[in-house]
Parts: sequence; C-alpha cells; structure tokens
Amino acid sequence: MVVINFCSMKKLIFLILVLAVQLVWGQAPDPDFNDKAAFSDSRVYQKSAGFTESADYASTDVIYQRLNFTVDPAVNYISGSVFSSVKFLKDDVAQIQFDLTDGMTVDSVQYNQKKITFQHSANKISIALPSLPAKNTIGLVEVFYHGAPLQNGMGSFVSSKHNTDPIIWTLSEPYGAKDWWPCKESLADKIDSIDVYITCPKQYLSASNGKLVDDKVSGENRTAHWSHRFPIATYLIGIAVTNYQTYSDFLDLSDGKKIEVLNYVYPEYLATAKSKSTDILNILSFYNSKFITYPFASEKYGHAQFGWGGGMEHQTMSFMTHLEFELVAHEMAHQWFGDYITLASWHDIWLNEGFATYLTGLTYENLLNGQYWSTWKDNQVKRITSLPDGAVFVADNTNVNRIFNGRLSYSKGAYLLHMLRWEMGDSLFFNGMKNYLNDPEIANGFASQQQFVKHMETVADTSFTEFFKDWYYGEGYPIYRLTYYTDYGDFGKQKLRISQSSSNSSVGFFEMHIPVMVWKNGKYTDLRLHNTIQNQEFTIAESTVDKIEFDPDKWLIAKADVVNSVPHVSLIADIQIIPEAKYRRIRVLLPEYLGKGNLRIVDLSGRLVKACELTESDSHINVSNLKSGIYLVNVVTNEKQKTEKVLLSPYQAE
Ligand SMILES: [Zn+2]
Repeated sequence: MVVINFCSMKKLIFLILVLAVQLVWGQAPDPDFNDKAAFSDSRVYQKSAGFTESADYASTDVIYQRLNFTVDPAVNYISGSVFSSVKFLKDDVAQIQFDLTDGMTVDSVQYNQKKITFQHSANKISIALPSLPAKNTIGLVEVFYHGAPLQNGMGSFVSSKHNTDPIIWTLSEPYGAKDWWPCKESLADKIDSIDVYITCPKQYLSASNGKLVDDKVSGENRTAHWSHRFPIATYLIGIAVTNYQTYSDFLDLSDGKKIEVLNYVYPEYLATAKSKSTDILNILSFYNSKFITYPFASEKYGHAQFGWGGGMEHQTMSFMTHLEFELVAHEMAHQWFGDYITLASWHDIWLNEGFATYLTGLTYENLLNGQYWSTWKDNQVKRITSLPDGAVFVADNTNVNRIFNGRLSYSKGAYLLHMLRWEMGDSLFFNGMKNYLNDPEIANGFASQQQFVKHMETVADTSFTEFFKDWYYGEGYPIYRLTYYTDYGDFGKQKLRISQSSSNSSVGFFEMHIPVMVWKNGKYTDLRLHNTIQNQEFTIAESTVDKIEFDPDKWLIAKADVVNSVPHVSLIADIQIIPEAKYRRIRVLLPEYLGKGNLRIVDLSGRLVKACELTESDSHINVSNLKSGIYLVNVVTNEKQKTEKVLLSPYQAE
C-alpha cells in the first residue's frame, strides 16, 4: 500500500524543471510516498488498535469463501452473504468466530445449511456449533448481513465520486476487512480459494480479485463473478464499482503463454491510462526475469482506479489513484512481496513495504535507461537520515501510523535490502531473494522476518545477526568521518582513518563494508573497506592521492565527512624532519608522546643560524632568510633527539 505525498511531488516537479530534463512527467521518479502524513490525519484509523485474532484461529482452516455483495456506488451501503468452508484442525471445536464491526447488522447465520443462533459483539460474530465436529471434517457457515459501513475517508469501505460519478471502493489493510464483510481477519490462515459476486445497478462495472468468469445484466442490475483459485489473505480482497472503461494488454512469456493485464479505469482517464501500457508491461517483464514469473499468471494482473490518494495491492488487481510509473512499480511488486508471500506479523511490515519500495528502486536501476536510479537513492537516504532515530522493526503493531511510516517501513526497509545486497554481492543477494520466493513453506502463505533472514544467511553462508541487530531492530545510522593523510612514518604511504558516531544511541557501532573511491592523476580505484572497529586505519595507496570520495554509488544509509589531514601524530614513531624546499621551509613532526621540543639549525661551520621552540606536533619552520647550502637540523625533545642534514637549494620565486 502506498500513500502519495503531494507536497513532495511539487518539490520534485521543481527539481525536474531545474534539471531541464526532457522527460515525460509520467516517468518522473519518486513521488516520495509518505504514508505517515496521510495516516496521521486519519483519526478513525486509531480504532484498529488492539485487534486480536479469533479464538478459533489455530483450530480452523478456511479453505473456501464465496462472497456475495450487493452495492450501489451512489449509496454507502452493502448487503450480502459470505459462505465459508471451514476445516476443523482439532477435535471438538466448540465455536467459530468471524470478524464484523458491531455497526453492521447480521441478519442470520446458517451452519451446514441450517439456521443457527449466534452472538455479535465486540466486533466478533460467535457461532456455537450444535455438535462437536471431528478433526479434519468440514463445516459450512453462511453469514447474511447488511449495513452502512463507517465512512472514515481512508477505506475500509468508501462511497465517493470521480468527476460527478459515484464510486464504491474498499481498502482493508491492515484491520479493515471486518468493517464491510464478515471475515476472518487473519495473518495465519489464507483462504485457499474465493469467488466474489458483486451485484450493482447495470450502468456500472465491478472489479475484484482473480478471473472475471461472468458479467451478466439481469433487469436493472448487473452481476460480476470473479473467481480466484490461489490462497489469499483476507486484507487483500477488494471490490470497486463505478462506470469503468476496461481494456487489456498482454505480456508474452518465453513459453508462449501470455499474462493479461486488465485495467478498469475512469472514462476520463482512459486515454492517459492507455499511454502507460508500455511502461506497465516493461515493469512486469522485469520482475518476471529478476525474480520468478508473476505468481498469478494463469488468472491476470490488473488495475482498478479508485478514489484514495495512493495505491493498494489487492491480489491480482491493484487499486490505483493513477497509473504513473512508480506507483505501478510499487503495487505490482507487492504481488510477489506481500501477496504471494505475505507478512506473518505487522511487526515485520518491511517484508511487504520495504521490499515493494526496493523493487521500485530496482525498476529505476534497470528501466528508463537507469536515469533516475541515482536520484531515487539520494531521495531515500535523505528521507531516512532526516531524523536521527527510528527502526525498521515495528515495536507497536497496534499503531497503524507507525506500521505504515514511510520513512521507516518503506524507505529504511528498502535501503536495508540495498545494504544487504552490498554486503552479499548481487549474485548471492538475488539468489537469496529467489530462494525465499521459491520456499514451499511460505509461498502462497506467510513469512516471518526470521524466515527471510535464514534464506539470505544460507545462500551467503554467513550470519546476519549483527547486521539485523543494527539495521532492523536498532535505530538511526552511522555518521562517518574519513580522514586521509600521507604517513611519513611509513614511507609516505596514503592512509585512511575511519571514525564513526551513531545518530541514535541504540547502536554503538555499525560494522559495514565502506565503499571508497580513491582518485589519483585523474584515475580512480574503488575500494571496499571492512570497518570493524572504531578509528580503524587503512593503507589505501603507496603514495599521496588527490582525492577520496565516500560511497559514490550510495550503498549505505550514512552521513559522512571526508577530510584531508596532516598525519595523525600518534602514528609517527620517530621525529620526522622534512625539507620542503619549494616553500623554503622545514616541516617537523613529533610523535605525540614526545611532547614539545626545541629546534636548532647550524651551518657546516657550526654556527647557529636559527633556533625555536616546537609547540605543535606538526610545525612548519620558515627558513626563507637562510642562504642556499647544507645545514644540520637538530630536534631535541625530553625523550629523543634527531639530527638531519638538509639541503636548501637556491630560492626560486614562483
Ligand atoms: Zn506498499
């Protein structure tokens, strides 16, 4: 799911004008999804706090549901029935529960086709079973209901308008399905198969999950029948009804099959929508090749336009405010990461949102000539580091604002994957991602954070415990200081010292490989420095270099200063006397532990020509008043002394 922050879009338009890039606005990078702002405005969404799964969730398995809805987009009202086949996983299950907001009315309940009593309170329908079923038998439950779902402006069920035409649409994530239909709001049990029947006035069309089996007019009404034969999480079921125009595009697969991309768009948007077809097919083709073939290829992928300011990844049919590149890339990515594999807990929302955000980044890396990749990375890092704190892990999963926090769950989650890719290398990283998608334990099911990490650790043959401790559970990011200098105590080698502080005290030290670009004589070398301790010293060249750049390809969440400095004095083992004839001066370096010293210069006749106190560990002694010739320079400290013969050549003014 994604909310678009329109302020950021304005900033972006400005940026694009400044850059004077000749691009189509539809391809512009990073609408900068900021869910936090939108969610903060939604008072009603706070109602979701404290949701608990039904008592029977571990003892029942919903294997099929038939959803029968009647709606009129002009009226905020829904009536219908939900039929469920429920398998009992234990003996003697005494009751089944469904979730339905108390504001909705349950008309009746049938169990094995007989009317049965029920209780509806605390947003649960509790049905005591007439006889105790045996394990592995199946009970058939049908709930008949109606009501005017709460209008909260965010979903779950909204009746609104586009132009002057009415529309009804739903958006149930994370806890909103029960607001408009009797369901099992669960992250433990996918419904193995569903049929959705939507009846509405005949001038409208209805969009939903899976394949459109039938769309029939009968009298003044029309009934669409959608059928979906893949496991689906409750929150990924959606319906949208308005005066849609529809069209399909097809992506050819290498095996001769095709994937249908079926679009339900507003009549006033039809021409614009059709202009996006090439981009949409390119993104779909890219995900197929980078990961695994679109998991629901035998049915369809599709978009249904709706009235919310963003997108929602309903399985096989994302609901979209528009079909711009980044929103399409994000919601489509969820079909793999979010829908095919669904998070097992809202604590780990990054398995959905961090991944979809990163896949969007990957489309910028690989499509549109890669021209927005760098900008995308820049935007993410700026957004993440705009505040010093915050973890990807969601500690409080009752706070919907926090679950969908754009900076943390989306951007930092995405960059966590990018940094993991940097640590692992491309080949292992993408193999790990594929292994995760191909894991039969979680494909078409739910995944935990630990299951994902396990796949990456297995393929990389290493532990990522520390990495995830710092970057998933820990808050903030490192602030680096890179100091490079010529080490005269070590044959003039170029040294680099890396120091770091943390923006938040929850992480003491981020152990990372640091990308550094070293420039000399117009050429560069890329280095990968494993930073494992504070104030770590690296030899990066045999002699002085021109420039050092920190992380030029933006692999890391970090801030950094790069400083060209005098040698770090503690590294000088001995007194250094360095003639700098060009500047007509002598440089003297003292090891820190030697403290202050005295300098004397005598000519070859033994005459003292200059004397001074050395108060710094690095001093420049001006000798421009001395004639050309050979001198003896003597430096004395409390502990050591050193004398060197120095040639001062004829002074040449520059
Ligand atoms: Zn999303």
